[in-house]
Amino acid sequence: AAWEREVRRSATPRRDGGLSVLVTGAAGFVGAHCSLALRGRGDGVVGLDNFNAYYDPSLKRARQRLLASRGVAVLDADINDGALLERLFAAAPFTHVLHLAAQAGVRYAMRAPQTYVASNVAGLVSVFEAAAKHADPQPAVVWASSSSVYGLNTDAPFSEEHRTDRPASLYAATKKAGEAIAHAYNHIYGLSITGLRFFTVYGPWGRPDMAYFSFARSIVAGEPITLFRAADGADARRDFTYIDDVVKGCLGALDTAGRSTGSKSGKKRGPAPLRVYNLGNTSPVPVTRMVAILEKLLGKKAHKRVVTMPSNGDVPFTHANVSHAARDFGYRPATSLEAGLRHFVEWFVQYYKLGIKGSNVLAGKTTKRKSM
Ligand code: NAD
Repeated sequence: AAWEREVRRSATPRRDGGLSVLVTGAAGFVGAHCSLALRGRGDGVVGLDNFNAYYDPSLKRARQRLLASRGVAVLDADINDGALLERLFAAAPFTHVLHLAAQAGVRYAMRAPQTYVASNVAGLVSVFEAAAKHADPQPAVVWASSSSVYGLNTDAPFSEEHRTDRPASLYAATKKAGEAIAHAYNHIYGLSITGLRFFTVYGPWGRPDMAYFSFARSIVAGEPITLFRAADGADARRDFTYIDDVVKGCLGALDTAGRSTGSKSGKKRGPAPLRVYNLGNTSPVPVTRMVAILEKLLGKKAHKRVVTMPSNGDVPFTHANVSHAARDFGYRPATSLEAGLRHFVEWFVQYYKLGIKGSNVLAGKTTKRKSM
């Protein structure tokens, strides 16, 4: 069928020894960037996304068009559709799955809790099931956990072995559950699984629901922004991590994931790897500093309201130790928040066709950016 032909074409690597990767959440922020980077180095990529309306679906469609222009097909499908996943694995022998589809965002969980269970727990199981039972040979799975699993932990910087039993949001709880589910699938089916704990990823083509993005919009529109301060008066801090650094980490994790040792029969042939890595920037920055950088780039002051952090799922700070990712696949975050936000604002004003008087981004020459 035409559908199968399209999947096979997109899944076929264009270099010797290239990977063939199924990317879920490929029309999402991190998924689109990773898909382009994989295609750019000659790997085969098939994307999948349900284009839900958690944030502006037209932004997801724009990413899909960009991917299509580079030869990457992104199918409209839900990860909970097990029959479709089975057809996909039958159509193309994927060597890897990069599972990024999820319901993201910590605060929205208070409004739509079941959405998190559906995508981050049931959906994760659906992907692991298909990879473990319906693909032959089994692909290695790399999936997105989150720095939020560290929850209310305060012994920073966070290392992978630190405790993760105090999630501060349902979102964090579903990611923590995902790590337990990964353990079970690895143990029973010998599925090779690598979990990546991302730390506040930002950049061009980013997520409009995240603070840096919504603050940029509010600053341009002259609308007030709300900043949170911890109960002890300290500014909230985040280990903001630039998208290109995260992409390098994802590709590094895929390259070292290898194939798993299990087979379609479900028999375990030997120990398959089960790993988890932090992908952060290793330098937490006060959110107030992030706003000051945006003000400078946009040439406009923010109207700030500072309130004590409510119990809405946010944590006071995040801070990654990335020594394990550095050791195993040479992960080294290289982008300062100033440089990364400049790339974001350049994209932002272009994408929304904003003419901003006094913006030193529009006045000056734009900086060189190799990726999307
Ligand atoms: P995103 O929302 O832009 O991307 C996720 C994509 O998955 C979206 O395009 C969405 O339409 C799709 N999706 C959601 N549920 C689906 C389903 N049931 N079936 C098919 N598609 C579905 O988010 P992102 O920032 O690119 O995040 C990617 C992954 O990284 C997510 O798992 C997220 O939880 C995790 N993560 C992100 C960050 C960050 O700062 N961006 C931090 C920690 C973890």
